[in-house]
Amino acid sequence: MKILVAVKRVIDYNVKVRVKADRSDVDLTNVKMALNPFCEIAVEEAVRLKEQGIASEIIVVSIGSKACQEQLRNALALGADRAIQIEAPDGPDALSVARLLAKIVEIEQPSLILLGKQAIDSDNNQTGQMLAALLDRPQATFASEIKVEGEQLLVTREIDGGLQTLKVTLPAVVTTDLRLNEPRYASLPNIMKAKRKPLEVKTAEELGVVVASNITLLSVEPPAERQAGIKVASVAELVEKLRNEAKVIA
Ligand code: AMP
Repeated sequence: MKILVAVKRVIDYNVKVRVKADRSDVDLTNVKMALNPFCEIAVEEAVRLKEQGIASEIIVVSIGSKACQEQLRNALALGADRAIQIEAPDGPDALSVARLLAKIVEIEQPSLILLGKQAIDSDNNQTGQMLAALLDRPQATFASEIKVEGEQLLVTREIDGGLQTLKVTLPAVVTTDLRLNEPRYASLPNIMKAKRKPLEVKTAEELGVVVASNITLLSVEPPAERQAGIKVASVAELVEKLRNEAKVIA
């Protein structure tokens, strides 16, 4: 079984996001970037399937500027076998990403395509679904457990108030949720080995896809500053403030 994993370079989740002074976008100057956490979970799941002898090859693919090769190397250090960077301006929309991934699927013919359920920068939660539609393949989103049974995949999904288990026929598209697994840390020898693993660069033109967006980002607003709290002297004062200032009780 060949597995294709789509991985995105995003702002590290530990970084406090700053907005540009003109509010046109998030400020990425000198900001630490990382593998999107849900993509890291997708890589880990692929590696576990390989360790169990179910998967034979793991290919990771990322769309973006040369900088995303850093995240591809991270994924190679975690256990992927080879990588593909599709050179494109950073920040393509979900449909362009899905179209490019569909071209790679045509070339590589993987049985399983793993993506994160969402990228933590744009929070789109769209690419996996669009890719499955473009390929006309079954999809299972928000996977919290995956079991391969021959040509089929049992996928448990976390839904409101419970779990849902789906059976999909391979080849299929699966997007990962937070509780699917806990990704490992790359060991130093594996980081060194990853430097020698194959990383191929392709362009959108070569794949016959025009990367265009029909969405314009108008503005980005930082969250409102939290007001400092106050101490009240008595329960009576608290009730008075809740009633007359916060107006949350009648
Ligand atoms: P999104 O639909 O943008 O929230 O992203 C969902 C998932 O699609 C991500 O977790 C990745 O697996 C994949 N994806 C999105 N953008 C890219 C990209 N530029 N390169 C590779 N994979 C991507």
